[in-house]
Amino acid sequence: MPERAPESLQQKIEERLRYYEDLGIRLFYRDRGTGATAASLAPPVSTPAPTAAVQESSLPKPIVKPLPPKSVAATAASRVLPLVAPSGPSLFESVDKVKDDTLPKIREDIGDCTRCKLHKGRNKIVFGDGSPKAELVFIGEGPGADEDQQGIPFVGRAGKLLTQMIEAMGLQRKDVYICNVVKCRPPENRAPEPDEVATCSPYLLRQIDVIRPKVIVCLGAVAAKTLLQTARGISQFRGEWLEWRGHKLMATYHPAYLLRNPNAKGEVWKDLQKVMAELGLQPPKKSKPS
Ligand code: SF4
Repeated sequence: MPERAPESLQQKIEERLRYYEDLGIRLFYRDRGTGATAASLAPPVSTPAPTAAVQESSLPKPIVKPLPPKSVAATAASRVLPLVAPSGPSLFESVDKVKDDTLPKIREDIGDCTRCKLHKGRNKIVFGDGSPKAELVFIGEGPGADEDQQGIPFVGRAGKLLTQMIEAMGLQRKDVYICNVVKCRPPENRAPEPDEVATCSPYLLRQIDVIRPKVIVCLGAVAAKTLLQTARGISQFRGEWLEWRGHKLMATYHPAYLLRNPNAKGEVWKDLQKVMAELGLQPPKKSKPS
């Protein structure tokens, strides 16, 4: 019978697993060959080298590259975010531009959507909320229970925190646009699955194309990985300016993660301050979300 790890260690492992989960990493392996312990759990290596069948030159063109910060003379090469190239074309490559597209038109096209299995458990489609002319767009993962009931994104506890963050930036919710990668609530608040993301994300792309924001903030790993088409952990590029289809993109932690890890609020606030600087925003006197 295997010996149980002491309770303090179990707790640490649990915390670490939750942390990885928040970053979107859900598969782990244990290297028995090296006698690794549970405490040394590591995320799987998810960046296989291109095989002969998938030569570098045949991979889709990267759609993202980091922008050097104004004050740091880092070489572009040292900050390139190597994409874990998808084995097929990018999710967004096959999305045709819709002439004279508008947000109401996109909503109409979604209709009473049954294109992916998430429709089965939803109450309301959560399309998006805010200004169609917003300079700043926040993109989350998918609706939760409150959002599913009300049909509005980010209205639960995490949403209240996001609202506080927006207000700390000197903005109101109506000044920005908020939406998610998938428009219907995944059961048990699980992460949306790749087929669901692939089916729903063309609508997200159209929303972004219509709004044409200066800055996109991806809230959490799912949004960041969907847009950037990377399998790299969000902690590897969180807080860095990246370029995505002509928009400046910043990935930061999801407010739901901050509710469980309040210590990370400082990091997110630093990221948002960079966004404020980019948009020329002055924080109100009493800023910083509590
Ligand atoms: S998540 Fe998107 S694609 Fe799936 S049913 Fe809802 S609206 Fe349709």
